[in-house]
Amino acid sequence: MKFSVDKFRHFEKNHHKPRSCYQNIPVNYRIIRDAPLSFKKIIPMKPTIAEKILCWFDQHGRKDLPWQLEISPYRVWVSEIMLQQTQVTTVIPYYHRFMTHFPDLESLAVAPLDDVLLHWAGLGYYARARNLHKSARLIHQLGQFPTSLDALITLPGIGRSTAGAILSIAFKQHQPILDGNVKRVLARYHAISGWTGDPKVERELWRLSTSYTPKQRTADYTQAMMDLGATVCTRSKPACPHCPIQADCLAHKNALTQQLPTPKPKQTLPIKECILTILMDQHQNILLIQRPPSGIWGGLWSFPEFSSLDDSLGWCVEQQLPVLESQILAPQRHTFSHFHLDYTPVIIKINNLNNNVMEANTRIWYKAAEINSLALPAPISRLVQQYIIENV
Ligand code: SF4
Repeated sequence: MKFSVDKFRHFEKNHHKPRSCYQNIPVNYRIIRDAPLSFKKIIPMKPTIAEKILCWFDQHGRKDLPWQLEISPYRVWVSEIMLQQTQVTTVIPYYHRFMTHFPDLESLAVAPLDDVLLHWAGLGYYARARNLHKSARLIHQLGQFPTSLDALITLPGIGRSTAGAILSIAFKQHQPILDGNVKRVLARYHAISGWTGDPKVERELWRLSTSYTPKQRTADYTQAMMDLGATVCTRSKPACPHCPIQADCLAHKNALTQQLPTPKPKQTLPIKECILTILMDQHQNILLIQRPPSGIWGGLWSFPEFSSLDDSLGWCVEQQLPVLESQILAPQRHTFSHFHLDYTPVIIKINNLNNNVMEANTRIWYKAAEINSLALPAPISRLVQQYIIENV
């Protein structure tokens, strides 16, 4: 049985009043099979979640973030790694600096790790920079950027969601993502309780993300979901009145937005203590030690670390560095994901008669005024600024 297009149009005009946001979305119709054809049996379908979110993105989404311009697999990849655990506003200046210094994959692959860490210093989670560098070298050896999910997730630092973002945004493939923003939106929309890092919850969220990801405009949808999570469905105060999927959001409907997503089960972080020794000679040279390549602050430059002031002074004697005076500074705390580091900085002024350079590769005396040209962890950089630069 045929149904005239005119009748559809008539029906749409009189029965479907799309909101202005949805005016560009073609209205879909569902016809109940085997029923006599009449207007009653033709049901206009609501826009899908993807349509609503894309529509919102077209009107309100951010489209001029640095990594959204001149899109390439390399640029998308670097941005995705930087955006893990770090907010957009913090990432932007780092991204610009990084891209100026390492404009393409080759420049990153051939750069020394020290240089990469220097341009990452301050962003934290340095394993990201080390993995970025390792993967750049592997891709460079391969000769081309991998274009499949399986190949991408074998690279250090690239998980399924990051791979999905690279493939959907840079290669226009139909691939879902599930970063922190998407997890939050979906957990609230479906009122899914349980920590989103729990494998069972995560499996369900992947299933939902996969089912909502549209085959058309996947790249835009990926960016739209990330943007919706970052700017509307925010962690503490979601702006539900401005949300394109508010009408069907279960968390909103049931006043659960503050409870969902369920926070990670609290664990008491262990505390580690140390003395950070700022050894300074009479020419304002500071002793720095390069940390081992893996572990916290891996590959970055830091002050020698000891468990007590006595150990610290004893080490100076061993190294034949006559101590002129020492000053204990206020203890400070830096929290890593898995422990608190309580450190007490101690400035020890020494008479470095031999200009002792020790193991040159991993220990250097560095001019205090130039020390910030090295890759330093943020707490070390703060100490340098506070107690050294301002007093030189
Ligand atoms: S309605 Fe509110 S809680 Fe639900 S997805 Fe939108 S912003 Fe998030």
